[in-house]
Amino acid sequence: MPLPIVAIVGRPNVGKSTLANRLAGVQEAIVYDEPGVTRDRTYMPAYWCDREFLVVDTGGLVFDDDTEFLPLIRQQVMVALSEASAVLFVVDGQTGPLPADEEVAAWLRQQSLPVLLAVNKCESPEQGLMQAAQFWELGLGEPYAVSGIHGNGTGDLLDQLIAHLPQPEEITPTNEIAVAIVGRPNVGKSSLLNAFVGESRAIVSPISGTTRDSIDTVVEHQGQTYRLIDTAGIRKKKNVEYGPEFFGINRAFKAIRRADVVLLVIDALDGVTEQDQKLAGRIVEEGRACVLVVNKWDAIEKDTYTIYDYEKNLRERMQFLDWAEAIFVSATTGQRVEKILELVNRAAESHKRRVSTAVVNEVIEEALRWHSPPVTRQGRQGRIYYGTQVSVQPPAIALFVNDAKRFNDNYRRYIERQFRQQLGYTGTPIRLFWRSKQ
Ligand code: GDP
Ligand code: GDP
Repeated sequence: MPLPIVAIVGRPNVGKSTLANRLAGVQEAIVYDEPGVTRDRTYMPAYWCDREFLVVDTGGLVFDDDTEFLPLIRQQVMVALSEASAVLFVVDGQTGPLPADEEVAAWLRQQSLPVLLAVNKCESPEQGLMQAAQFWELGLGEPYAVSGIHGNGTGDLLDQLIAHLPQPEEITPTNEIAVAIVGRPNVGKSSLLNAFVGESRAIVSPISGTTRDSIDTVVEHQGQTYRLIDTAGIRKKKNVEYGPEFFGINRAFKAIRRADVVLLVIDALDGVTEQDQKLAGRIVEEGRACVLVVNKWDAIEKDTYTIYDYEKNLRERMQFLDWAEAIFVSATTGQRVEKILELVNRAAESHKRRVSTAVVNEVIEEALRWHSPPVTRQGRQGRIYYGTQVSVQPPAIALFVNDAKRFNDNYRRYIERQFRQQLGYTGTPIRLFWRSKQ
């Protein structure tokens, strides 16, 4: 779920950008280019009492018809408002209400968004109340006396502001987990599905064309509901047309897209093939959680092939899934099959976990202390100012840095590893966005 946006409006010079920076807790504006939001505005991540949101400074809003850029300015503000959950209308307590404020107020009253009225430049608490009181006449409710420069009054304002933001989606433990079972033909996908749901739902047979043709099966296990997305059933039906080697990679890709967690099933006898690697690549691209299921473990000669050796080999051939947990099972004997669901639960939980900005920044500080960013050949050092989680499924963290080019792959991997280890993310890819300050 994207973070709610708070749009800051007001005429020029009332202190909008000063206040925006104060709310975001940064001294300088940072360009925040989340996909989907227009690039030329400045979005700043902010949080208060564990509620996270983005602050966007819309620039000065004027209704003076002499202004050359009037249509453009209004359009900009309209775009910002269309994305926003609340508006912070800033006025200048030292000048008192001006006709231009009344115009903005009249316009805002026509919008269907909650508006908070911040009376800025109220440094003195006693005078501030008087200064703020003058703005009741704008008809936008209680004016809050604040000072963007000194910070007073901003706590009360933020309390009110977050009360107007939409509640983040509750993540309930009873939520369905969509699990795609993918892999090459004959690795044992149907057998595994069968092991999950019980004999009656799917018929396992080496002969083509005998399995069911529905794709999703919903099962419950220990209070958790799973939607099993099976790519084998349909393939088997179509074997008649395409022959037994038809892989149906597009169907696998579609299943991956619909899944929270992908079970990538590998045949222990064949090891990792190019097709398995292709599926793995797609899982990473789609940002899905994943469990590597090595099936037919019963058919392996254990004296020559221990789990340890096998896993080492598996890891070498599946490098971009190094974050995924691997499990060695037998659909035929049922060995460890139940344990797959434990790994699925863990991966699904990590995949949708949101971490507060305070914790993200603790991890960054700690990581920087152990290992400072590299210095470029020109003697310039990378600096990380701030980080915040911008989305879940998969978890994505934006890092605001002085210059992204100064962070080499090694260091980026180090930071990612720190997030994984400190935040306990297992079984899910995590994404880091390195954002240069402009
Ligand atoms: P914007 O055009 O609305 O974004 O306004 P700015 O944030 O650029 O501020 C305009 C001017 O007002 C600058 O000179 C700021 O230093 C000043 N200013 C901003 N906030 C305050 C404040 O809380 N108190 C006082 N006294 N001046 C402020
Ligand atoms: P799918 O094409 O991936 O759905 O694979 P199936 O579930 O149809 O299994 C293909 C073949 O492998 C069948 O003959 C199964 O009996 C066999 N098979 C599946 N799982 C296992 C396993 O754990 N051990 C052994 N030895 N054979 C298995």
